[in-house]
Amino acid sequence: MSRRRSRPRRKTPPVSHAPSSSSSSTAVSPDAPCPCGLPASLTDCCGRFHRGQATAPTAEALMRSRYSAFAVRDRAYLLRTWHPDTAPKRLETDPETWWRRLEILGATGGSPFHTEGAVSFRAHFTERGREGVMEEHSRFVRHAGAWVYLDASGTPRPSP
Ligand SMILES: [Zn+2]
Repeated sequence: MSRRRSRPRRKTPPVSHAPSSSSSSTAVSPDAPCPCGLPASLTDCCGRFHRGQATAPTAEALMRSRYSAFAVRDRAYLLRTWHPDTAPKRLETDPETWWRRLEILGATGGSPFHTEGAVSFRAHFTERGREGVMEEHSRFVRHAGAWVYLDASGTPRPSP
């Protein structure tokens, strides 16, 4: 597994389709509330995991940090917290998708004392100006001591 110290800067989207209600279409700033919804800044919350300063202690914490990584487009973190058996070779994040809010619906296992866990969640997003919700049941396993994402079952994005 290669750990990249630097990643490319976010590219400016060629065309802005951001909804007019949104004042900013830039990535989340470190002082902003964490995208995962916990009452802490991105730096103090999921940012610690993104920077590699800590590893997520529970499957739910990993789930939250991966959601936040999608929100800030941290592909390197997403790939290194993906089980090697199921991880894609490369990962694209849709520059037109903005992750707005995460709802954790339930979790089983996944504590510091478990080796497997599952988290059900609902992720709210805006895509090309349209709001959508993705509901998923994600499975996590401990791999080399750290929680990683294995796979998911769930409904695909509902088409309008
Ligand atoms: Zn967080």
